[in-house]
Amino acid sequence: MYFCGMLENKNPSKTSLSSLGEFALIDHLTNTVELTQSSSVMGIGDDAAILDLSEGQTLVTTDLLIEGVHFDLSYMPLKHLGYKAVIVNLSDIYAMNAKPNQITVSIAVSNRFTLEALEELYSGIQLACKNHTVDLIGGDTTSSTSGLTISITAIGSAIDKQVTRRSGAQENDLLVVSGDLGGAYAGLQILEREKAVFKVNPNNQPDLTNYAYSIERQLKPEARKDVIDLLAELKIKPTSMIDISDGLSSEIIHLSKSSKVGFKVFEEKLPIDHEVISICEEFKFNSTTAVLNGGEDYELLFTVPQKEFDKIKNHPLLSIIGHACDFATGCQLVNGLGQQIELTAQGWQSFSGDSN
Ligand code: ADP
Ligand code: MG
Repeated sequence: MYFCGMLENKNPSKTSLSSLGEFALIDHLTNTVELTQSSSVMGIGDDAAILDLSEGQTLVTTDLLIEGVHFDLSYMPLKHLGYKAVIVNLSDIYAMNAKPNQITVSIAVSNRFTLEALEELYSGIQLACKNHTVDLIGGDTTSSTSGLTISITAIGSAIDKQVTRRSGAQENDLLVVSGDLGGAYAGLQILEREKAVFKVNPNNQPDLTNYAYSIERQLKPEARKDVIDLLAELKIKPTSMIDISDGLSSEIIHLSKSSKVGFKVFEEKLPIDHEVISICEEFKFNSTTAVLNGGEDYELLFTVPQKEFDKIKNHPLLSIIGHACDFATGCQLVNGLGQQIELTAQGWQSFSGDSN
């Protein structure tokens, strides 16, 4: 972890984008790209990519990331940013119980960035593609007057009857979440704090070893392909599913509204890492609030029929956190005393004026 200032090209050994031109830039960034998917007929290099989608259903999803709104380059290394930008899209495909096959990447970039900086970004993009066996098949490149904008589109596929929407949860289904929650939010708090310290004293590089897990959750999230593979292996088709990008509360409310069921969620069942608990103590905020409202964990939240209980009850990747009930009950958090508290969707409010 290294805190940097701005990325301005003050170093003469770095290559300015203006010296290169658009075509050379695209070529430079993408000349190592190889196609691995049988459905990718033609990738980068023509006016459009060609896909042969003969089987099943095709899924398409897009995310737009803007510097200063969705990421902060003072603590986000560009390689991590590239990786994360891909992962957030792949996570949406996995959340449909589908498999991603291709992505396109469009960037708008100011001349404050160097070729070397964009190479870093693309090394992260290509690593995510490699780890998830996804082909980079195209995109667009343009200049911007300030900052960096990245838009990624992911294309996936699934056998028709496997696709899982938000809308299929039934009363009494079990509510299940993968991994643990609140880590990305805790990591963000640490990074924001250290950024403020760094501003005052730029020579002081922080020791972040005690926060490594949470910072990784923020800077290098992973999309849960393993959970989708596990469900297939266990022969479980979730009745509804969503990925957790905005916080557990708001995702539960999405499942509730789409499926027309309520949920009871048990506070003591919420999965949280011990490091996240100690960061919450350090910042004096409630760890349940971090789990419910912190975003960007990219875990999967899904419902399964009760009959699947034995298959998942002790699985290390999964936690059963509650169950679906009638719609009129709404979404309730049940605490250790048995008291019920209505869940509210706070989430990542992109339009609130808050930086995230
Ligand atoms: P056009 O003028 O037809 O939009 P471009 O010169 O923008 O063509 O793109 C040429 C090729 O490079 C196309 O295959 C396009 O998909 C690909 N491409 C352009 N920008 C990017 C990028 N940032 N990442 C990946 N592929 C890109
Ligand atoms: Mg173009």
